[in-house]
Amino acid sequence: MSVRRARLPPFKACRKCKSLVPREATRCPVCGSTDLSDDWEGAVIIIDPEKSKIAKTLGLEKPGRYAIKVR
Ligand SMILES: [Zn+2]
Repeated sequence: MSVRRARLPPFKACRKCKSLVPREATRCPVCGSTDLSDDWEGAVIIIDPEKSKIAKTLGLEKPGRYAIKVR
């Protein structure tokens, strides 16, 4: 039986657009950047960017799943 490190979240975050992408992805499906980070904090799901204060604060224009902080 193998032991998986459960600490790591199942996502990486794009440093360019803050999208959360699957851990196995090598490229951000939203902006095409390959600059993906394991070091991110806080996840937010934007459904309606027009009406979302968080989306405006973070400068997000498209619905999706985003990290709040990416290092
Ligand atoms: Zn991106």
